[in-house]
Amino acid sequence: MQDVVEKVYEQVVTRNRGEVEFHQAVHEVLESLGPVIAKHPHYAEGALLERIVEPERQIMFRVPWVDDAGQVHVNRGFRIEFNSALGPYKGGLRFHPSVNAGIIKFLGFEQIFKNALTAQGIGGGKGGSDFDPHGRSDAEVMRFCQSFMTELARHIGPSTDVPAGDIGVGGREIGYMFGQYKRLRNSYDAGVLTGKGLAWGGSLVRTEATGYGTVLFAQSMLSTKGESLEGKKVLVSGAGNVAIYAIEKAQQLGATPITFSDSSGYVVDEAGVDLELLKQVKEVERGRVADYVERRPGARLVTGGSVWDVPGDVALPCATQNELNGDAAATLLRGGCGVVSEGANMPSTPEAVEAFQKAGILFGPGKAANAGGVATSALEMEQNAGRTRWDFATAEAKLTGIMADIHDSCVAAAEEYGRPGDYVLGANAAGFTRVADVMIAHGIV
Ligand code: NDP
Repeated sequence: MQDVVEKVYEQVVTRNRGEVEFHQAVHEVLESLGPVIAKHPHYAEGALLERIVEPERQIMFRVPWVDDAGQVHVNRGFRIEFNSALGPYKGGLRFHPSVNAGIIKFLGFEQIFKNALTAQGIGGGKGGSDFDPHGRSDAEVMRFCQSFMTELARHIGPSTDVPAGDIGVGGREIGYMFGQYKRLRNSYDAGVLTGKGLAWGGSLVRTEATGYGTVLFAQSMLSTKGESLEGKKVLVSGAGNVAIYAIEKAQQLGATPITFSDSSGYVVDEAGVDLELLKQVKEVERGRVADYVERRPGARLVTGGSVWDVPGDVALPCATQNELNGDAAATLLRGGCGVVSEGANMPSTPEAVEAFQKAGILFGPGKAANAGGVATSALEMEQNAGRTRWDFATAEAKLTGIMADIHDSCVAAAEEYGRPGDYVLGANAAGFTRVADVMIAHGIV
């Protein structure tokens, strides 16, 4: 790291004590900026780097709610409005017991550059709560969402800040939050949230978009070597929104996904994942991965280790941050893995990323590879603003085009800054320069 960049990083660590995931995300971006600043020193002027690592606004609030037994719970809500240079803050809401300020800040920071890569005029933000929806009734989830939105509503709006889903927040939660927002505002602002139901302003392909995009990114990376996903064995982690639709698109492109997981263990299904069964278990029944194995002869459940212990050609981490460490990366490489495309945000630890890059395999970082979700959220906003609806093929064609453009921007930036094939540098440099140029144009704000 260059001196100037090192100083900014040290400041981030000092001012955001204990927020280790945020430190990790900032380090990864700043580390890539050495060659960019060496070539364009003006990016280090006007405290631009100091400003870009400081959220424009951080909101933290109490979320009291009553469970079915009449007991009162108090959770903590967050919304980090990180950077609005390119457009309204945009990024998901995560409901998971591990949520804290550092996690939301890391996600919001990543989101700035990811959203810039989509070239759709959206700024970066993220939010959520340490609420755990697992095992809660629909009525409890609804009361929680209503309480959460009662505070959040004063900070968001179609031109200000547009949240979406993330871990623990899907169509059901977006529905409850939208209902409460509409009631509080007495205004049908469809564009205030994305990931909505199709009958009330949602976009076709939004549900599929992140997983599809991650696989399309893998396919684009493979095409630079004259290869494709056809016939490849694919390892997927997670069994949520991103994982399910990564499996679907991989199957459509002729690959064979053989694993998935949740926090109770992982499943190996050598015959290839039965997607209809997985959707039934996870999307309809909200069950555990063991429920799949019970109904699928030949599939096995493993409760220790991780999907990365299984040999395969392509790895798609689609669960959560830091789920793939240096040891797992070494095991994957020994097993013959030649492509990693990140569906989750920051799923690979710095040691894992280093191992992949040293081995010279194709590595697509989340901020590029999983940008299809937010890109399709921006398409949803576009349809809401125009009071129009596109069919599936139109929305999917737009997503495919955006993913190809993101891939090509990463390739071009990696070449421009002297590290061809380095998608980490490419994504960070291309995303950063787009945001930085506009921050400079807007003056010191
Ligand atoms: P879901 O809640 O739909 O699914 C998350 C999956 O990952 C579940 O199977 C969950 O298992 C598992 N998981 C989550 N946390 C852990 C953990 N700490 N340990 C083990 N397993 C875990 O979330 P999404 O699919 O939407 O999100 C997955 C990842 O993709 C996240 O990193 C998210 O930030 C990222 N992402 C999502 C986008 C979207 O459009 N949804 C867009 C871009 C990125 P269990 O149910 O047992 O907890």
